[in-house]
Amino acid sequence: MGARAVAALAAVLVATAAALGAPGAEPGAGDPGDRYGRARRLMVDAQIRGRGVADPAVLRAMAEVPRHRFVPEPLADAAYADRPLPIGHGQTISQPYVVALMTELLDLGPGDRVLEIGTGSGYHAAVLSRVAGEVYTIEIVEPLAERARATLAELGYANVRVRAGDGYRGWPEEAPFDAVLLTAAPPEIPPPLLDQLAVGGRLVAPVGVAFQDLTVIRRTPTGFASERITPVRFVPMTGEAAGRHADDPSRK
Ligand code: SAH
Repeated sequence: MGARAVAALAAVLVATAAALGAPGAEPGAGDPGDRYGRARRLMVDAQIRGRGVADPAVLRAMAEVPRHRFVPEPLADAAYADRPLPIGHGQTISQPYVVALMTELLDLGPGDRVLEIGTGSGYHAAVLSRVAGEVYTIEIVEPLAERARATLAELGYANVRVRAGDGYRGWPEEAPFDAVLLTAAPPEIPPPLLDQLAVGGRLVAPVGVAFQDLTVIRRTPTGFASERITPVRFVPMTGEAAGRHADDPSRK
């Protein structure tokens, strides 16, 4: 999307947000520099708690992480709207509810080590970092990885490590992980990511091509148990996952 298109979209979204009474200065908010505290609380109540996400740690993280700092500046006033937003390079930051739902499905504890494939803006990684112990995140579009690394550092999320590259092969040096999250959709789960999941660990991913299912896979002592949650639409996982799918003769 070009700069002009972003500006036009920003104007529409900001008008919508203003009509909803979303942003606005907030006397007495915890962080005096954060004019979006009220918008964020409304987002958590209406979009997240209101739709059934109940994990207190997830709700707390969603109420804390300044989503407006992870979207392009002209879209800051739309950051708490109930929708995904463009972040450049043809990619998007997921809708807040989807971020919360996926995080809840990972069933994280404070000491858990999490691998995320698809850093994008770094927003979901920041949310994970408030609920888990350590976050490792991989982004294939190098300028996005660099920008996310800078944003996370600036905001003080010290327990997140960002790597630029194809996430297909995971992060073997840091495996096993208690949880693995994919925020781009592969046709099938890359086997290396299943290998890097600890026994008892959870993997959450949108799986499929045109139609995707949000899928939770648990590693048991003897194998893997898979559960489909709901139909979703994510950007496709690129790199080796896409190449393998295209090369697979059984699909021609
Ligand atoms: N979690 C992100 C949303 C990311 S959208 C956020 O909070 O902003 C999905 C991201 O996955 C895109 O940035 C895309 O570039 C990335 N991606 C796609 N295929 C990938 C791959 N093979 N390895 C790593 N990242 C990938």
